[in-house]
Amino acid sequence: MTAARFQRLRQVLECRQPDLTIVTDNVHKVRNLSAIVRTADAAGIGTMYCAMPDKDYKAFKGTAMGSHSWVSVQRQPDVSAALRPLKAKGYQVLATHLADDSVDFREADYTRPTVILLGAEKLGVSAAGCELADMHITIPMRGMVQSFNVSVAAGIILAEAERQRQLAGLYSERRLDDQAYHRTLFEWAQPKLSEYCRESGLAYPALNEDGELVDGLAWQHAVRDGSATTFDW
Ligand code: SAM
Repeated sequence: MTAARFQRLRQVLECRQPDLTIVTDNVHKVRNLSAIVRTADAAGIGTMYCAMPDKDYKAFKGTAMGSHSWVSVQRQPDVSAALRPLKAKGYQVLATHLADDSVDFREADYTRPTVILLGAEKLGVSAAGCELADMHITIPMRGMVQSFNVSVAAGIILAEAERQRQLAGLYSERRLDDQAYHRTLFEWAQPKLSEYCRESGLAYPALNEDGELVDGLAWQHAVRDGSATTFDW
């Protein structure tokens, strides 16, 4: 890890938006999900949720796309299981729904804690998803085709969310709390070591300005003699 690379990881984490996320409602094509993850990363989303069967999720996770390392993608068995905990935390749910009574996506306020709900390739957002939504939004379409590819729709909407959040100064200061920030920074800078720590019940050791252990040798000795700080993962 170079100092420049570590600095880049820190800059990205300083822009992460813990109150902006995506829920996909049975979007199942790997290339669509991968494109959505890349777009989410670019808008500062750190965690998104996929309501989908386990076998589709495994196929998706099996594709080693770079952005998967930077966005946590969590599976939920159905859209209600994905949305209810977020609604309970005060997130508004904006369902992307191609209907006459949906509002133009630019009218929504994306500076609020927000879930953007994206629908399946053929069927769109499910009835359960539509019901749990606070607002139905649509991107105006002026051509002959009736809908965008779901990842394109995600990109258009997230560009507006990014614009609003940038104007509101939400990328100007760190939004992650200390614990989430330092934990994620360690996991990004030291992926293998973080895995070892979690498996061994050890706390993450301190990193220096280059993203390396402050005193790696002393920590290794402490691990060996059992005096390293433990953590209940
Ligand atoms: N027949 C489906 C329907 O009526 O919803 C079309 C699904 S579309 C191919 C897949 C997803 O992309 C949608 O569920 C929505 O999430 C998003 N999407 C596509 N076009 C959109 C638009 N114009 N406005 C908002 N979302 C759109």
